[in-house]
Amino acid sequence: MDQKFFADSHTHSEHSFDGSEKVRSLASAAEKKGLYAITISDHCECHEYFEKNVACDISASAEDIITIRDEFEGRLIIRTGIELGQPTQDVKAAKDALSLAHYDFVLGSLHNLRGEQDFYFLRYPDAAAAQDLMDRYMTELYELAKQDLFDSLAHIDYPLRYMKGEAGLEIKMSDYQEKLDAVLELLVRNDKALEINTSGLRQKIGRTLPDKTVLMRYRELGGKLVTVGSDAHNAADVGSGIEQAYELLKECGYDSAVFFTDRKPTLLPV
Ligand SMILES: [Zn+2]
Ligand SMILES: [Zn+2]
Repeated sequence: MDQKFFADSHTHSEHSFDGSEKVRSLASAAEKKGLYAITISDHCECHEYFEKNVACDISASAEDIITIRDEFEGRLIIRTGIELGQPTQDVKAAKDALSLAHYDFVLGSLHNLRGEQDFYFLRYPDAAAAQDLMDRYMTELYELAKQDLFDSLAHIDYPLRYMKGEAGLEIKMSDYQEKLDAVLELLVRNDKALEINTSGLRQKIGRTLPDKTVLMRYRELGGKLVTVGSDAHNAADVGSGIEQAYELLKECGYDSAVFFTDRKPTLLPV
């Protein structure tokens, strides 16, 4: 990558339950790949706050970043972040987590519905079962979008990574257009960003989450703020797909991506 302003706003370190990489290794990989900036956004799964997150010490990555930031001064911008999973299911846990450190950037995610396992663990025997889950997902996603806790809505079509990518079911976001529009309109009204998550490019679904259709619709509805993240859980994936995501943004008529510092967006030309 030789362009100056590639920023990866979504990465995980060893301080996520499903990560093992040191914060310093993520930063070194970002620098080697010529990125302009990186945000480490470790998980806080709010519904499991006490079982999982405390054990993982969710504010530890912010502390690590403060320790190493000076080493990278002038070469790489490193920001503190957090991925709040299911803040709808334990608002107090979400607020507590946000008070543990100074976060530059907060992602809002919905990995599982109330009372259900992560979509990763669910089975999709047929389209009807998946459609029912998807319908419930869109309803809870609207609830999440209404919460004023996050800066960017992560992987808006997360269940499709499994329903379509893994189970091969033909389910599209446009099947839920009314609910999708309601979520996107809320983002626009509340100045919240939408994320392009590039992990799908490395997975069976073979595309970004979301795809062009949703990005175009967000823009049509007045959306201007898009963050881009690899969702890397190791150093090798840092920055992966960011260049393609910028191209996609251009195709959709956007002239910039955004990157957050102190919970405020900066525009990066694409
Ligand atoms: Zn996620
Ligand atoms: Zn993530």
